[in-house]
Amino acid sequence: MIIIETKNILINNGTLISPDSDGTIKTIKNTSILIENDRITEISNKISKNSLDKIIDGENKIIMPSIVNTHTHTSMSLFRGLGDDLELDSWLNDYIWPIESKLDSNIVYHGALLSHIEMIKSGTTTFNDMYFFMEDVGDATIDSGIRGCLSYGMIDFEDEEKRKSEIKNSLKLLNYCKGKDRLKGFLGPHSPITASEKLLLESRKIANKYDAKLHIHINETKKEVHDTLNTKNMRSFQYLEDIGFLGDDVIAAHCVWLSDEEIDIIGEYDVKVSYNPSSNMKLSSGIAPIDKLIKKGISVSLGSDGSASNNNLDMFEEIKIGSLLQKVHTSNPKVLNADESFKLITINGAKALGLDNEIGSIEIGKKADIVLIDTLSPNLTPNTNSLISHLIYSGNGSNVNTTICNGEILMENRELKILNERDTIEKANDITQELKSR
Ligand SMILES: [Zn+2]
Repeated sequence: MIIIETKNILINNGTLISPDSDGTIKTIKNTSILIENDRITEISNKISKNSLDKIIDGENKIIMPSIVNTHTHTSMSLFRGLGDDLELDSWLNDYIWPIESKLDSNIVYHGALLSHIEMIKSGTTTFNDMYFFMEDVGDATIDSGIRGCLSYGMIDFEDEEKRKSEIKNSLKLLNYCKGKDRLKGFLGPHSPITASEKLLLESRKIANKYDAKLHIHINETKKEVHDTLNTKNMRSFQYLEDIGFLGDDVIAAHCVWLSDEEIDIIGEYDVKVSYNPSSNMKLSSGIAPIDKLIKKGISVSLGSDGSASNNNLDMFEEIKIGSLLQKVHTSNPKVLNADESFKLITINGAKALGLDNEIGSIEIGKKADIVLIDTLSPNLTPNTNSLISHLIYSGNGSNVNTTICNGEILMENRELKILNERDTIEKANDITQELKSR
């Protein structure tokens, strides 16, 4: 458990860039932020406070909300570089699933911790994760000081016994997350192809009962669309609507192959779409019609997917790739502009996870999940031009100077405060080597 040592923190005289309550992106120069315990209590250019525990110099810094990553498999960072340049089917069947069958809780814990360090160092403090041994991902999240929405990835392939055990694992996770400050338990039926109708419906029932969200992969590949058409005689979103699975609490990762009817269904049910451009490009899955979705008023956020198919968790890199991909896809440089892109990685992510009352923007009363960006960097110069443009089109994770989550400083001047970076990396190398020899 983390003991909060610093109670009152003043971030003094920086440039604030954040979505406003009406959704527009505001930039305010020479302003200061007061954090008391875990919350933002004042935003002003003249804060006078006597009993401060810590002052952070905001000069030459952008103060922005911490990034939200809405689709991850954090422990898969241990498989980074394993089986590159393959299609999804062969990548999963020949490389990922064989090694995943040998996982244990200790390996999953250390894989998650490795990802948490990478996220903290690149400005992300909230992630939406689906995997196995999820209580261990939860333990790693508690130890690293960030926020996690956790789902146990349920796959039953129509097997009755498997379905029962998958549901049992999910209920265990929901109970584990109960009452833990920075954790939320979600339901994770893997996809409409790998999860049976019974499993999908049972997940929906439990989600309603526990007020938990549903995290699922939908229409990632053309093959998935064909498989659903062959087995259900419908496309995925039509099938999911038909069985009564959809709702505004569904977070649908990928959504690469969508018919116009499916886009209408997504809009009608207010399904939250997680856009995963790097993974979709690397596995050659396709290009999600994000511009169309946004024009329909559908809530889109950004996910990295696992590091085995990305291959990193740098959300600055991800949003740049995501924005450029939409521009080339539509032959229109105006789509997914810098302001819209900034929303995808902040307030839209928070909305998708049901956390927008707490995080996703820097506003009085919200949790202090804040990142400082060092503008005295060659790739963010000149500072007289648009800083929001710099963040989206020129920035990268290494420009993050300081990361705060829940009022706790997790990294300052690029030095981790809670986790030991060297030990975590060495441990990750050792256990991966051991795993491969099993
Ligand atoms: Zn995924």
